[in-house]
This record gives sequence, C-alpha cells and structure tokens, in this order.
Amino acid sequence: MISLVEAQEIVIGGCHKLEPVLTDCQQMSGRVVAQDVVATEFIPPFANSAVDGFAVRAQDVTAAGVELEVLGVIGAGHIANYVIGVGQTARIMTGAPVPQGADAIVMIEDATVISETRVRCNKPAQIGDAIREIGEDVKTSDVVFAAGSVINPAGVGVLAAINARQVLTYPRLRVAMLSTGDELVINGGELKPGQIRESNLTMLATMISATDCEVINLGIIDDDEAKLEKILREVATRCDAIVTSGGVGQGDFDVVKIVLSRIADMQWMQMAIKPAKPFAFGRLKTSDSRVIPVFGLPGNPVSSMISFEMLARPALRKMMGHTQNLTRPKVKAIVDKQLKRRRDGKIHLMRVFGTFGNDGRLHVRDTGPQGSHQLAATALANGLALVPDGEGLAAGSEVEVMLLG
Ligand code: AMP
Ligand code: MG
Repeated sequence: MISLVEAQEIVIGGCHKLEPVLTDCQQMSGRVVAQDVVATEFIPPFANSAVDGFAVRAQDVTAAGVELEVLGVIGAGHIANYVIGVGQTARIMTGAPVPQGADAIVMIEDATVISETRVRCNKPAQIGDAIREIGEDVKTSDVVFAAGSVINPAGVGVLAAINARQVLTYPRLRVAMLSTGDELVINGGELKPGQIRESNLTMLATMISATDCEVINLGIIDDDEAKLEKILREVATRCDAIVTSGGVGQGDFDVVKIVLSRIADMQWMQMAIKPAKPFAFGRLKTSDSRVIPVFGLPGNPVSSMISFEMLARPALRKMMGHTQNLTRPKVKAIVDKQLKRRRDGKIHLMRVFGTFGNDGRLHVRDTGPQGSHQLAATALANGLALVPDGEGLAAGSEVEVMLLG
C-alpha cells in the first residue's frame, strides 16, 4: 500500500497543463490566465463624480450656507459645454465627467435646492471631494492579472473594463467518463433480481462540471473488450482526460482493467486510506501523440466520490493551469461526538458535518454509516475527517478536516 500523498504525487505529477488558447473575456470565469494581463487603458478613463450632487470650486464653498448659481445638469456620458466660474455650479450625476473649473462635488444630501438656477451648500467643500480620479482603479501598463491568476466574476468585469476582449488562457478540459458493471441499471426501469441503479456517473458528471470541466458521458459500457477499446480510442481523440468507474479492485477481471492495461500505461494502486483503497492511473497515447490521463475510480459510490476528490480533481485542476489550492482546504476541527474506527494501517476519511461554534472553531460529527457503499451519509457531509490509524478519536479531540465545497 502507498500513502495518499504518494498517490497524489504520482497522479498529479503524471498530468500536464494543456496548451493555452485565446479565450473571449465572457468565457473567462474560473479560468487561469497563461500570461500577464496588462492594462492598456485607465479605469476610470476620466475624472468623474462619485455621487449625485453639485460640481463646485472648493474655494467658493469654504463654509456652510454658500449659495451658487446652477448652470445646468450633467448626466453620465455627457460633457458640459461650459466652465464652472466663481460662484457657479452644475448639477452632476454619478459617473458624469467633472466639468472644467470644478474641483469638488457636494453631495445632493448636503445641498438645498432653492430654484432651478440656485442651490445652497450646507457643508464646506474640500478639493477632490467625491471625485473619482482618472486611473484610480487601474492604470495603463498595470499588470492587472499575473500569469497563473484565476479569473472570478469580478475579474471578468475587470477584463471587460480594460477592453481585454481575448485573453491567453488554459482551456476547460473535456472529460470523458464511463461506468462498467452488468448489475447497473441506468434508465429508470424496473430492477431485475441482482440489479442496482447506477449512481456514480450521475454523481461524477456533477463533480466534473463543478471542477469546471465539460463532461462527455459515455454511459455504461458492456463487458466487450473490442467494443470498449474502440470507444476509448475514439473518445481519446476528442477529450483531454478519461474517468472510469468500477473494476479497479484486486482480483477483478473487469474488461476495463484488461483493456486499459493493454492500451494505456497504467499504474494500479492500493492506497492506505479507507474508503477508496484501489485506484488506477494511466496515460493513454493518442494517434496524434497527445497523452490522455485516465483516472480509474473504484465502483463503490463513496470510494468513487472520495478518489475523485483526492486524486482526479487536483490533477484536472493542474491541467487547467491551477497552481494553488489543487486539493480542498483542510482545517483543524473539534470532534463533538466520538469518531469510532479500528486499527488497520489506514487513514480513515470519515464523512462529517461541521458547524462553527461560538468558540470560532469548526465542530464535527459523523453523518451516519461509513461503509463505502453507503452514499446517503456521504450526501449529508460537508467535510472529510482524516482520522489517523488507531482506535478512533474521543469527543473533544482535534481532527484535521478537508472541507468539501
Ligand atoms: P467494482 O468496483 O466494479 O468492483 O464495484 C464495487 C461495488 O460498487 C459493487 O457493489 C458495484 O455494484 C458498485 N458499483 C459499481 N459501479 C457502480 C455505479 N456506477 N453506480 C453504483 N454502484 C456501482
Ligand atoms: Mg464492477
């Protein structure tokens, strides 16, 4: 058996970043930029008002009670064709360019409108009041996003604001997935004796999408070597990674194992964790010399989910250019109710639900039966407690918890 960390090194180390491509800024949420994004424009592009109010000369409004002549109204997107002179002002809207002559804005809340042409300022003004200066947010030649940055929705807005219409970016992955098993029923039909409903593909499709990848769902594949080989070779020409579910355990003569061993460079691993002990990682060379990683997940639903989290997800993130937070964050938590286990040389990844207590710390308790086939308790969990080998952890002890989502 190898440790989880060793397995992660093998799997993540065996995957490569994809070639960056030019991507429209609207498609950039969640993407990693492959080169520095440098601003070629100022934001804001001109000095403008931060409030609705009156554009004044600060030297005219040194005390409360000053009355000014109103020359007109300046809306956002419009330029005043006059200059603010001594004793004069203009009504101005948020985002409108500050007119010539003015150097401060008095908020509408601090003014009393006397008539259409006269206003009283109820507070003194200082130069620069409520004015947003040119380039206050971003300046030309600023590196707005360094290579390797992850673009979030606000980042998409910034790209639009600096007119970066296309950006060199690591692409979303196309991830093909398939399941094997004669017992699996996928179409909602009646269960015959010995059959169960397929759940992994539905779960994994959701997890792959949540990892920001595109899903190519190949469904359940029959126990036919030639057919499976043909499907895998074909899909490899139009995907970036393959996830399989089932048939990676020891002593399992599933067709997936036979075919993958033949067409890909596979490593069959046994990890010192529970659940999700078996895992297969491989590299499949395509006819056009691309290397497609293959993640062979075990069929037990909880194992499938946990090995995707621990091994496939970090590797897929690496391929999409991520360098940070490949795995989920871990925090120290307090065990609220004894976490029971037996000594077996493995770390147990127990499904727990955590809430923050008044002490500011995360408190966890298990969500129910912990078998690798018992997905219902996993569905209630928001964390995996990494319970070290031994007899479990008593209430009140500390445990490391990986936060899920
Ligand atoms: P395997 O890894 O193929 O040996 O399967 C281990 C266990 O997981 C068996 O009980 C299977 O019936 C179950 N299993 C395998 N694939 C799936 C699936 N796609 N959905 C639900 N259960 C599955
Ligand atoms: Mg099977």
